[in-house]
Amino acid sequence: MLEKPEVRSEHNPFTNAQNQLDEAASYLKLDPAIHQLLRWPLRELHITMPVKMDNGTTRIFHGFRVQYNDACGPCKGGIRFHPDETIDTVRALAAWMTWKTAVMNLPLGGGKGGVICNPKKMSAGELERLSRAYIRQAGSFVGPEKDVPAPDVYTNPQIMAWMADEYSILQGRNVFGIMTGKPVALGGSAGRNDATARGGIFCVREAARVNGIELHGAAAAIQGYGNSGSYAHKLAAEILGMKIVAVSDSKGTVFKPDGFLYEDLMAHKKRTGSVTGFPGAEQISDEALFELDVTVIFPAALEGVINRNNAPHIKAKIIAELANGPATPEADLILRNNGSYVIPDLLCNAGGVTVSYFEMVQNSYVYYWDEEKIHHRLEKKMTAAFHQVHRTAGQHDVHNRMAAYIVAIERVAEAMRLRGWV
Ligand code: GLU
Repeated sequence: MLEKPEVRSEHNPFTNAQNQLDEAASYLKLDPAIHQLLRWPLRELHITMPVKMDNGTTRIFHGFRVQYNDACGPCKGGIRFHPDETIDTVRALAAWMTWKTAVMNLPLGGGKGGVICNPKKMSAGELERLSRAYIRQAGSFVGPEKDVPAPDVYTNPQIMAWMADEYSILQGRNVFGIMTGKPVALGGSAGRNDATARGGIFCVREAARVNGIELHGAAAAIQGYGNSGSYAHKLAAEILGMKIVAVSDSKGTVFKPDGFLYEDLMAHKKRTGSVTGFPGAEQISDEALFELDVTVIFPAALEGVINRNNAPHIKAKIIAELANGPATPEADLILRNNGSYVIPDLLCNAGGVTVSYFEMVQNSYVYYWDEEKIHHRLEKKMTAAFHQVHRTAGQHDVHNRMAAYIVAIERVAEAMRLRGWV
């Protein structure tokens, strides 16, 4: 078989994603054609977007949309706005979406988008024009039955609303189902905002159950205080009775042994733009967060934050991966050897895409469920997926990430076989 030439580098997330797949493929003795097909995106789009800036100049932005695999259904996955975005990051994230939707047994494939930009340095008007420009260039590539984007790092319901509006204008009719994670007033789903965190909290609850760990009153640390990190704070306290003793954001890390109250910390962050400087909290280094004596650590920001340098110092019993790809492969091995129970990203942060799927269903029915129903259905799906992965890990005597890959690959491979692709 002709192999695709590869550029490999140590910290390339796509190399990591391919390595994870390779490990699972060799364990499963996967058919070589299936393996090779799953190592690459089926399609990808590279776009260049002119955007009028507030100062009267025109800036040129670059972006991507990767459709990794749609054997099980339309591609699904967020769009990130980030200064360090690369095609390989988007490919890795699109691959992980493919495995994530499959682990959750959703009738969807995996995709991801990205724009190289720094939204923190852009005005609302500039962000709106960039969001609309993205859809003008990528609009014909995506679609409610082809590929449905959603929020991710530094994108939000407002950006989804602008994109859904632009797509609707291009189509000449309202097509709210083109995006998920929209505001509720535009066909968004109840319960989508905290869905990623809520799904992760259900996983932590089940992980504690199967490992005999007491969570009530136990301490947790959250790395990253964006959408999933801040809601993880709220829900870990509300649902699990945990005490959040350390949190970080891009400006620094704060520590408070008696725990932060969600409402107070959120109010401080809204007022000052950061969790740092919270009255009565100690400022510690970002690395020190990982070394704390806590029961659970929630990495909830970007990929690669748990690495070979900090992994040996991690004492947490449970690592709940709310971010995508937070542990490097070297770190993963160290965590396992040290006995931490890792809830892999494919499972732990799948609550977001699960409620996105509920949003797609509601959009196509034009009939909307209340929040209670969403929470209940999410809890059922997350709990079932958690136990399927946990059971598979036991049956095959493999770690949880491998177990999640086994569940996912078997589902995607079956769909590809049935479709006659391989
Ligand atoms: N961006 C989220 C993720 O990585 C959600 C994707 C979606 O809702 O489509 O899972």
